[in-house]
Amino acid sequence: MMTSAPFVLIALPVPVRTLFHYLAPTPAPIPGARVKVTFGGRSLVGIVIASTDQCDFDANKIKPINSVIDHQPLISNHLLEFIRWAADYYQAPLGEALQAALPAPLRQGNPAQHKADSNTQLWDLTEEGRGLPTGALKRARQQAGIISKLQQTGTSSWAELKAAGCSREALRALNDKKLIQPATEQNTPTIRQSPLTLNTEQQIAVDAITPNEFGVHLLDGTTGSGKTEVYLQVIARALTADPQAQALVLVPEIGLTPQTLARFRRRFGPSVCAVHSGLNDTERLNSWVRAAQGEARVVIGTRSAIFTPLATPGLIIIDEEHDGSFKQQDGFRYSARDLAVVRAQKLNIPLILGSATPSLETLHNAQNGRYQHLHLTLRATANPATPIEVIDSQAATEHHGLTPEALEALARHTNAGNQALVFLNRRGFAPILQCRDCGHQLSCPHCDARLTLHRNPYHLHCHHCDYQQAPAKRCESCQSHRLEPLGAGTERSEEYLSRAFPSTPVIRIDRDSTRNKGALDALIDRVHEGEPCILVGTQMLAKGHHFPKVTLVVILDVDSGLFSADFRGPERMGQLITQVAGRAGRAEQPGQVLLQSQHGDHPLLQLLLNQGYGQFAQALLDERELTLMPPLAFLALLRADAPNPGAAMAFLQQARELAESIQTDQQIQILGPMPALMEKRGQRFRYLLQFKALSRRTLSVYIRQLIALISAQKASRTTRWSIDIDPQEM
Ligand code: ADP
Ligand code: ZN
Ligand code: ZN
Repeated sequence: MMTSAPFVLIALPVPVRTLFHYLAPTPAPIPGARVKVTFGGRSLVGIVIASTDQCDFDANKIKPINSVIDHQPLISNHLLEFIRWAADYYQAPLGEALQAALPAPLRQGNPAQHKADSNTQLWDLTEEGRGLPTGALKRARQQAGIISKLQQTGTSSWAELKAAGCSREALRALNDKKLIQPATEQNTPTIRQSPLTLNTEQQIAVDAITPNEFGVHLLDGTTGSGKTEVYLQVIARALTADPQAQALVLVPEIGLTPQTLARFRRRFGPSVCAVHSGLNDTERLNSWVRAAQGEARVVIGTRSAIFTPLATPGLIIIDEEHDGSFKQQDGFRYSARDLAVVRAQKLNIPLILGSATPSLETLHNAQNGRYQHLHLTLRATANPATPIEVIDSQAATEHHGLTPEALEALARHTNAGNQALVFLNRRGFAPILQCRDCGHQLSCPHCDARLTLHRNPYHLHCHHCDYQQAPAKRCESCQSHRLEPLGAGTERSEEYLSRAFPSTPVIRIDRDSTRNKGALDALIDRVHEGEPCILVGTQMLAKGHHFPKVTLVVILDVDSGLFSADFRGPERMGQLITQVAGRAGRAEQPGQVLLQSQHGDHPLLQLLLNQGYGQFAQALLDERELTLMPPLAFLALLRADAPNPGAAMAFLQQARELAESIQTDQQIQILGPMPALMEKRGQRFRYLLQFKALSRRTLSVYIRQLIALISAQKASRTTRWSIDIDPQEM
């Protein structure tokens, strides 16, 4: 008879880098199953990792498991192994990584089951509904609204219809008339044919991607060159080849727009499943379960969706792979893009990394042959990419920040019946409120940051810690009443442009104007009506949207990237300019792009404007090679923060001494302790110690030793500290 091991090792959601021993019940729970245990007097949900005979503690003190939640493993072997790899690589506690990977209801111990929910119910048009002549429902505006929405999206959930202002009654009436139906896999084909014929470059890209074989493919194509169409057709191929296969698609946080989702739903029907921060707990759980059971054939989500369970994984796609939102910046600090490479490799499936402005990391991997470099150079719809003209903005002395040339171009394009886009990566009315008499600027009491003045509603706001206050009437420093807003945010540009162009609608799109559910949809719908208008917005406008009538793009104030203390500043600036410029002239009309800059003759800017992103990126890569920075070297940060600067600094000083005591033949360069780029944020002082090595492996081994040394110190329990592998922010 086989005797089962007496102990099980459990991962618990606590910030300790170890697994915990509990007594194994009979039968012993399987790895990947959840159990309830008592830990430090609390009842916690943990995940079984393994059984073992080994235990260094007094076996009599080991507690039993309170209850076994799953009799089948909740997390498959593959997924568990992948999450373990991730925790190991990022040197994070496994319990914390598992926590990040599971939706809240599962973390709390709820059963892994769908809940039928009227909100997530998908609807589509019936045959009859599709054939409905336009204007047929003229008398019933609400019903007509639902029909036209479904015509655009193919399939929409009730929650989405509700957010767009549709009523329950109208939905019921249409259902009774058999014009719409609840969409199910049974009544909707999984793949609808694409009406588009691929151009040669697109076809080469689609053909290059072999299913059932690991390979990373960089799909490097300008905005509008048809990358998304390539994704759709590669997915269609994979799903046709294997009637069970699933595709996982990750998009940036602000890229998962209703338009993006609609495009996938039109092609793949109700088997498309979204995973993003806008979902409530039930919706998240439903998506998770549908993906795990293989019912969701296309899972489309943001960063954390990289941990979605897949019954039959077929391929992974990361759209806009350069986007910063794929990196988690607190807690379990992982990069979903980098993890995608590992997951695809473990599963032996292809990965597509798509971007018009690939990150230097990805370009480097393409150059050294690890990734296949696929190019889309033609815009799918005839128009070549628009050259960017620089305007010297030193001349823009007015506070609204627009030069006479830009204003003149705005007038010309809107008079010609087209739309224009003004890009300004700063929300609010003005970034600075300054005293005219003594020059004092209002700053956040909790951060090293100035308060932004907002007009609507009227208040001062810290964009780093969310601190808010009523606008001061007097200067804190000299009591003067003469406080003056300096510089322009989107609210100010909107206000000025509305006055300057009274007969042209000005539509502002930023986090503030789209806060309410359905607001973004409504604004985008207005733009799609096609009337001349001026769009003013932040980088929300730079992604995921296709505005066919926009012929002019004006870019304000991106100079800070040239002089950023962060070594990635210029790379990010180049990506942003290229992405925003790509919004111009996406349809038949040729476009114009104006860039206002105070440093138009800066060599990097000149390189970008004259030679394009590819050459620009190459110059940055050459520089990183000279300075030995990523991707030519590897970084890790030890971060510490505390309510007073002394404590965090002392902790890092001590850490540096420990770090220097580690014997290694390999060179590790240690820098710091030094203040983070924003030293004080949310009432905490933040410092870091930087480690650099020429090999990933060397750095990893070294940091592991360092963590062990630090964890043995008393200060490690009283100071808040963390390790950031491959950091994206300083
Ligand atoms: P990207 O993802 O690179 O920005 P999209 O896939 O969104 O590009 O394509 C841009 C536009 O061109 C879309 O309106 C799309 O429908 C259209 N398009 C893409 N591929 C083709 C094609 N082969 N033939 C015609 N139109 C296409
Ligand atoms: Zn003053
Ligand atoms: Zn603040």
